Amino acid sequence: MKTNPEKKGKKTNKKASKKAVLKKAGTIKPSKKEKKKEKSGQFSQLRQDVVTGDWVVIATGRGKRPSDFKQVGEPIDKDPKSCLFCDPKASGQEEDVLVYNTSAGDWTLRVFPNKFPAFSQPVGGKLNHKEEGPYFWMDGVGYHEVIVTKNHFNDISRMDPILVAEVLDAYQTRYLDLMNKKSVRYIEIFHNHGKKAGASIFHPHSQLTAIPVISPYINLELSGAENFFEANRQCVFCTMISWELDHHQRVVFENEQFLAFCPFASRTAFEVWVLPKKHQPYFERSSDEEKIAAGEALREALGKIRQVLGEDFSYNFYLHTSPCDGKDYPHYHWHIEILPKTSIWAGFELSTGIEISSIEPEVAAQALREAQETG
Ligand SMILES: [Zn+2]
Ligand SMILES: [Zn+2]
Ligand SMILES: [Zn+2]
Repeated sequence: MKTNPEKKGKKTNKKASKKAVLKKAGTIKPSKKEKKKEKSGQFSQLRQDVVTGDWVVIATGRGKRPSDFKQVGEPIDKDPKSCLFCDPKASGQEEDVLVYNTSAGDWTLRVFPNKFPAFSQPVGGKLNHKEEGPYFWMDGVGYHEVIVTKNHFNDISRMDPILVAEVLDAYQTRYLDLMNKKSVRYIEIFHNHGKKAGASIFHPHSQLTAIPVISPYINLELSGAENFFEANRQCVFCTMISWELDHHQRVVFENEQFLAFCPFASRTAFEVWVLPKKHQPYFERSSDEEKIAAGEALREALGKIRQVLGEDFSYNFYLHTSPCDGKDYPHYHWHIEILPKTSIWAGFELSTGIEISSIEPEVAAQALREAQETG
């Protein structure tokens, strides 16, 4: 099985890359000395992401155990009295674009435009752009919305799974509304929790941006998936899913329709991906049953990460799906990536794009599998 050949070695030195390629093909056997070193854990591992071709470093040399990753609380205003989202209307948020109510008439979830949008709604449908010598710019038009669930203290890791399915339903409803808007080519849905993860408001909320460009990271995944299909005649994500289910080493949780696992080339400690087991390029086509199963898997994965990292853990997750630019992406496979905030990008990461994780994904997955809810 071959990954995108042009990506290989792009971000590492020639020697390491050659060795990684050869090792993959099974032509290099470690010498006795090397074996001894590997056993004693002196070597870190350069692992390659099978979708994007990106490299990560799994550096376990510091001998960290799962319990060493426990996080301590950050100073963030948790007081519901000063919360802008407990009563969005009263705190001057924009008009709702979607509200879910209980049969008794209480709201459970609402969606409204972001008061400080990174992308502003287009006026008149004209998209200005200009070239200035070697440079290019265009209007940052788009939509930026906030999806808020009612309970101030229950983040997704603590929510009733059926409410998590409702969150996914709201993502889908807004997605379907925005995907056909002129100038929208990609809809990014993400969730920041905790100050370290960039959340400025404690109250649980997700965000959605509908934008006129496809991000470099999505492009990398799309071309990686395409190249893998060309070489192997199967979806790279489906291939990963069946490998992970067969070997079970990195599985965190599964139900009939969804799988949560720590990716082989995890970029951060306790990174988890949640995917539908059945091949599906388009999130917006999910059925109610699938949203319920995905909600359970996402809730379980986050609940387990909280058990291991502690009550004050910070995380980001985001949804990756096919662009809505009118083209077909039959070889892509939608998924959610959860990245607990366990490290900071510094010089090495910024200069190379290679992240360093200090726990093996297999060890992380085992700790997450074994983590039990305590209430
Ligand atoms: Zn609140
Ligand atoms: Zn697939
Ligand atoms: Zn992705």
